[in-house]
Amino acid sequence: MNGTKIAVVGIGKIARDQHLPVIEASTQFELAAAVSRHGKVDVVENYTDLETMLRERPDIPAVALCTPPSVRYNMAVASIKAGRHVLLEKPPGATLGEVDALAELAGQHNVSLFATWHSRFAPCVEPARQWLAGKTIRHVEIIWKEDVRRWHPGQAWIWEAGGFGVFDPGINALSILTAIVPPVFVTEAVLQVPKNVQMPIAAQLKMRSQAGFDVAADFDWRQEGPQTWDIRIETDAGQLTLTEGGSKMSVVGQGQDGGLEAEYEGIYHRFAELLKSGESDVDPAPLQLVADSFLSGRTVDVEAFHE
Ligand code: NAP
Repeated sequence: MNGTKIAVVGIGKIARDQHLPVIEASTQFELAAAVSRHGKVDVVENYTDLETMLRERPDIPAVALCTPPSVRYNMAVASIKAGRHVLLEKPPGATLGEVDALAELAGQHNVSLFATWHSRFAPCVEPARQWLAGKTIRHVEIIWKEDVRRWHPGQAWIWEAGGFGVFDPGINALSILTAIVPPVFVTEAVLQVPKNVQMPIAAQLKMRSQAGFDVAADFDWRQEGPQTWDIRIETDAGQLTLTEGGSKMSVVGQGQDGGLEAEYEGIYHRFAELLKSGESDVDPAPLQLVADSFLSGRTVDVEAFHE
């Protein structure tokens, strides 16, 4: 049996690294078209314009939007109005208002909208959530430090307004945080912005929960050598540590193997479930923390960034 036909839009790094191979291996989806101004995919029909694909291919019921967040809203609106189910790469939009509007539009057109958070599908995130349930959290510390030159080579959009800067990876940590602990809100933010770009290269956040704990987060895009994607959670029953972006976990000093990392397999499995049930899955909580950091953050000028 063939899977649901899907078109991938925005053939860039994440489309090639994850979406295309995962769809290729999936029995639930079948790649039917690619839409990109420059990127091309062998074996399927390629379009340079989304509207044309939507008009000419009524046989494709679903699209995966893998373009940068600042251009995704118009693409999502066109797709939803054409009656297509939509999978959004993270972050789901450049603003919270956009994401709300899309969720409402999807409801009006009876299509499923899936705002994905790939890090939530890392193998130790659900086990961490389960271990933390019922425990009293005392403090959370997030350290998310990576080398922008290694992970985003040549990507100009990440530095422009709506590009998120260091919050592009940082929101992955926030997507895990908001999945495993009670709600938190931003109390303080420092945004370190290189003199020649619009978006921060580093940020330090403080957050608080009404459940009685604080969170400190340190995001930095200037880390060479070993990369750090860690979350440490102190509880009344000891410490839980998620490392390597949620693919490894240690509980009270005991390491646990999360098994194979399969974030995007999990994403497409969930999308298939949503199509079956006719539901949408849109959680803006990580984006809200980023928006509030920009809203309340103190900006500090730092050295200009050059590739
Ligand atoms: P990318 O390599 O720049 O690819 C995005 C593609 O979107 C481009 O190749 C471009 O293809 C298309 N596009 C359409 N309009 C564009 C515009 N105005 N500016 C730039 N590109 C435009 O970016 P990416 O790393 O794949 O990231 C895309 C999304 O996936 C982001 O939201 C990011 O947070 C998310 N993501 C990325 C990673 C990662 O490892 N890089 C991991 C997880 C999630 P054409 O020029 O052919 O149209």
